[in-house]
Amino acid sequence: MAIEKVDLVIVGAGPAGLAAAAEVSRHNGNVIVLDESPRPGGRLPSQMHREPRSAGHGSLSWSNGAAKAETLVNEAQNAGARIHCGVAAWGIFPDWYVGIAPTDASRPMRDCPAGFETRAVLVAAGACQNPLILPGWTLPGVITAGAAQTMINVHRVLPGHKAVIIGIDPLCLAVAQLLIAVGAEVLGVFLPPANGLQSGPTSPKAAIRTLAGFSAYAPGFLMTLAAKAGKYMSTLAAAGFPRRGIKIDGLPLMLRQAALSISGLERAQAVKTAALSSDGCLKSGSEIQLQTDIVITSSGLSPLAELAHLAGCPLHHIPEMGGWVPVHNDRFETPRPGIFIAGSISGVEGAAVAEIQGRIAGLAAASYLKLAAEEDLERNRRRHQKNIIEARQTAIPFYPQIETGRARMNRIWQELSG
Ligand SMILES: Cc1cc2nc3c(=O)[nH]c(=O)nc-3n(C[C@H](O)[C@H](O)[C@H](O)COP(=O)(O)OP(=O)(O)OC[C@H]3O[C@@H](n4cnc5c(N)ncnc54)[C@H](O)[C@@H]3O)c2cc1C
Repeated sequence: MAIEKVDLVIVGAGPAGLAAAAEVSRHNGNVIVLDESPRPGGRLPSQMHREPRSAGHGSLSWSNGAAKAETLVNEAQNAGARIHCGVAAWGIFPDWYVGIAPTDASRPMRDCPAGFETRAVLVAAGACQNPLILPGWTLPGVITAGAAQTMINVHRVLPGHKAVIIGIDPLCLAVAQLLIAVGAEVLGVFLPPANGLQSGPTSPKAAIRTLAGFSAYAPGFLMTLAAKAGKYMSTLAAAGFPRRGIKIDGLPLMLRQAALSISGLERAQAVKTAALSSDGCLKSGSEIQLQTDIVITSSGLSPLAELAHLAGCPLHHIPEMGGWVPVHNDRFETPRPGIFIAGSISGVEGAAVAEIQGRIAGLAAASYLKLAAEEDLERNRRRHQKNIIEARQTAIPFYPQIETGRARMNRIWQELSG
């Protein structure tokens, strides 16, 4: 099979990769977008949640990821980008070659060469879900929040009728809301056990701090949630969050109870829960079994940084951005000339932010490739940079301290560049 020469290979056809492809193709760059999934859009087609700003404003507006994905695919293709799905990028070699393979080995890649020689690479590989580990977590019928989103919104399958949700983060709350909207019963959102393996909160106090962290950024459903939880905070300090939980927007929030284990013969059938003191100590003798047919876990998201690392980009661990992040500047350039990143790989944020980051990174790549006058590119970049601030106000706040993390990354970049 032949090797094709292009200007830019983009790994990842999510909002960041597609927006970057549109920007570079619009400036006559020869752009290829690769995605290991069978269809383009990244996480977008799985996303359907109430816009943070819409709650309490009368009519509900829902963020429709599938429609957004279609718009971005059309924009990239109309600008001239070519998108290959079912194709995984397995390595990036200097200066530069991208090795690829079919995701499904039994299906040869159609219209695709063996690899790409390219002047630049933009890695927009997205984020992954952190595991939430407790006894029984590998049973069939235990799925992640992201899997529940995909089953409901992409495959139109209700994962179960009686759901137990374990973990406190924005994604599990958005999924709980989705489950209720499609007619499932949510028995409660519980804390995970404090077994030293969790990346999210395991005590009521830490959970309330986490919830409060969402409020400044999410003036919709999450704000309502956090504010209502906050209303109880003074009571909490004295008497604690009610043991039986609080129902908010129909969602039972069980911050004084932990899920200890999941059991079932061939699939998840029950979850053992126990009451907690406000600082997270188990109350002995309080264990009960909840009968369920689906358990949904959520423990935060982390950037998928490995491919950029393979290309020689240094990583830094920045918890406020979700974990290990490739070093980059605010144009999404990395210390490796010709390697760019964008979207969740650069710190996990909502889809609207990822899209704008893709546009900024695309313009930086167009500048590196000398596809247009620098002043024009710079003007557009500045415009998009302003839009990020607005997008951040309405996006789901996966990491409420993200701006602190980004400031830290800027300092790392400046130290590195001397
Ligand atoms: C489980 C989950 C649920 C989320 N839910 C929401 C939500 O409801 N609302 C919201 O605003 N944000 C959500 N997010 C955050 C989400 O990541 C961003 O909103 C947005 O999708 C990020 O865009 P992106 O382009 O950076 O990455 P993505 O949309 O994740 O796209 C990355 C793409 O890269 C592809 N890819 C990765 N590695 C390779 C490789 N080696 N070769 C080829 N292709 C590759 C993947 O298949 C994927 O399609 C969620 C994230 C996750 C992980």
